[in-house]
Amino acid sequence: MADSRSRARILVVGAGPAGLATAIEARLRGLTVRVIDRRLPPIDKPCGEGLMPDGLSRLVSMGVRLGADDLSPIRGIRYVDGSTVAEAEFPGSRGAGIRRLRLHRALVGRAEELGAELSWGVELLDMEAHRGTCRLRAVDDRAEQTVEAEFMVVADGLRSPTRASLGLESPDKPEPEWRRYGARRHYRIAPWTDHVEVYWSDRAEAYVTPVAPDEVGVAVLWGGRKASFQTLVDELPELASRLRDARVISKLSGIGPLRRRALSVVKGRAALVGDAAGYVDAITGEGLSVAFHQAGALAEAMARGDLRGYAKAYPSIVRLPNAMTELMLLLERRPWLRRRAIRALSKAPAVFERFLAVHCRHRSAGSLIPVAPRLLRHLLL
Ligand SMILES: Cc1cc2nc3c(=O)[nH]c(=O)nc-3n(C[C@H](O)[C@H](O)[C@H](O)COP(=O)(O)OP(=O)(O)OC[C@H]3O[C@@H](n4cnc5c(N)ncnc54)[C@H](O)[C@@H]3O)c2cc1C
Repeated sequence: MADSRSRARILVVGAGPAGLATAIEARLRGLTVRVIDRRLPPIDKPCGEGLMPDGLSRLVSMGVRLGADDLSPIRGIRYVDGSTVAEAEFPGSRGAGIRRLRLHRALVGRAEELGAELSWGVELLDMEAHRGTCRLRAVDDRAEQTVEAEFMVVADGLRSPTRASLGLESPDKPEPEWRRYGARRHYRIAPWTDHVEVYWSDRAEAYVTPVAPDEVGVAVLWGGRKASFQTLVDELPELASRLRDARVISKLSGIGPLRRRALSVVKGRAALVGDAAGYVDAITGEGLSVAFHQAGALAEAMARGDLRGYAKAYPSIVRLPNAMTELMLLLERRPWLRRRAIRALSKAPAVFERFLAVHCRHRSAGSLIPVAPRLLRHLLL
């Protein structure tokens, strides 16, 4: 087996959205980057495919070119719980639905244009965080090489074997009944909505995202035991009737358990980014936006030559999204409270809009204080 040695200023492991965004941000700061992924592009993944407005504007600021054909504008969020409907619009700019394959192509295009070196079909075998070495293997001919890097970026996704091999996997695991899973499928049907619609049942939520003029993506999230996608959709009569005559046009693809925690996002010369850095749940649909914010902070720290800057910035990037996610999970686990909350939001749309503005980083969390009594009143009525 051939074994060669090379050097890289930055080696990024994983060319998903987080790894590619980090490579783009690093190149924008003039750093030399090599990115590897064990798969071949374009890479798909189970995802709701909704981009929050701040995620979309991060893509624009990275110079990622997305045409009108790639994006389906999204005006806001709509919750559907039986006959109760609550909806709110994003403040300021719109979000978008985008097929992961198109997003991947656009990110790859921008990274290449900026001069990042992208190696496909190459997997990480092991990483030595303190020495700054990675052992890689080409998937097709199994040739091995050792790369010495000043910084190593771990962007290998939710299950991140690298996080575990660096000793950064948190031992805390949710009990089986609290484990959550996600799956998605696409349907050939003209979108009937310009919102991300979230349909709630007592054991699942389904996210409908328009992703093309004749296509919607449906992502289902649920907790506890394994369940069939179709059964979960059938338990949502409003959604099931919409999809009844629509043709399924993508393979069912799922992932889980979702909750993962890293003990630290920096170790030696390695930094974790995206889902590899820790993930609570997909219930708020903002993993991509959060990953793009992290990518900017990580590239900035590498440009300054010190990963401690990233370790310091990281908590402030994830604090609010994680708090919102935990709040939503609280509702998800208590159907009576969820029903009350959605009913309250349907009666107080301005309060829902304020929540969404906080969620989109448009307003501070403190701006919820003046509207809290109104929400409480509707909750108690
Ligand atoms: C059901 C569901 C719905 C979601 N809905 C939304 C949504 O609507 N909006 C949103 O913003 N977010 C959503 N998310 C979250 C979003 O999908 C993730 O946050 C995002 O994909 C994270 O990107 P990533 O680059 O960190 O990981 P990934 O996209 O998983 O990329 C990791 C990459 O690493 C590569 N890799 C792994 N191991 C190795 C190795 N050893 N060597 C080389 N390469 C390797 C993989 O091939 C892969 O390409 C959802 C998630 C789920 C599960």
